[in-house]
Amino acid sequence: MPPSPDSNQSNPAWSRDELVLALNLYLLYRNRLPSVNHPEVRALSESLNLIGNVTGVSKNQHFRNPNSVYMKLSNFSRWDPSYTNTGRKSLVKGNKDEELVWLEFANNPKRLAEVVATIKANVETVYATPLALSVEEEPGFFEAEEGKVLTRVHRVRERDKKLVKRKKDEALKKHGVLQCEACGFNFSKTYGPDVEGVIDVHHTKPLHTLQPGDKTKLADLALLCANCHRVVHSRRKWLSVTEVKDRYLAAKNKA
Ligand SMILES: [Zn+2]
Ligand SMILES: [Zn+2]
Repeated sequence: MPPSPDSNQSNPAWSRDELVLALNLYLLYRNRLPSVNHPEVRALSESLNLIGNVTGVSKNQHFRNPNSVYMKLSNFSRWDPSYTNTGRKSLVKGNKDEELVWLEFANNPKRLAEVVATIKANVETVYATPLALSVEEEPGFFEAEEGKVLTRVHRVRERDKKLVKRKKDEALKKHGVLQCEACGFNFSKTYGPDVEGVIDVHHTKPLHTLQPGDKTKLADLALLCANCHRVVHSRRKWLSVTEVKDRYLAAKNKA
């Protein structure tokens, strides 16, 4: 009988953040998986419990015990060609996100390690920051590949009231108007000058580079209309401002 994956059957599904951390450990030991009692398995269990508590995934202090971590590591072998090419089959069934996380990160261990370090560095401080809207539940807004924690860091930064004001002031001084950097939409021209301020601010730095305590530079922010900002965040792999701009121009030229 295989050990049961979790001590508590009502445990929530693994979040992206958790899968990313587990994959990182799997890749370090893919040739020989560590045992349930291995210090790194225990350490990961503790990290996951902390992240789960802070992000609200589970308030149970021990919801990812070393046993469930061990099981998750074994699940990854199912996606690993270096395991399956030898004719071996992983017996455990995993969930769909495991495969996606595998596809997105397994061939880029450097980026994966950076994402893991950044998640760990940010989790406590970012969840201590109040955020008016629950960004994770906004319709049409996708959590990034890098998971909940870094998605939240991104949103906290682009909603910083003081920075948003400075960014708009700077653009007004420079260009005299506020325009979407992707599609060129001009608020005052369309709706009148008194609504110019409703333009969104998007934070452009890659998520794995966001360290707690960083000072956000105005150059890291882009002014976008609400539509273009939606498009940036409309899928798991967020688009860059340039990609949105290119799509906008390509569609316009076709029309
Ligand atoms: Zn736009
Ligand atoms: Zn954004």
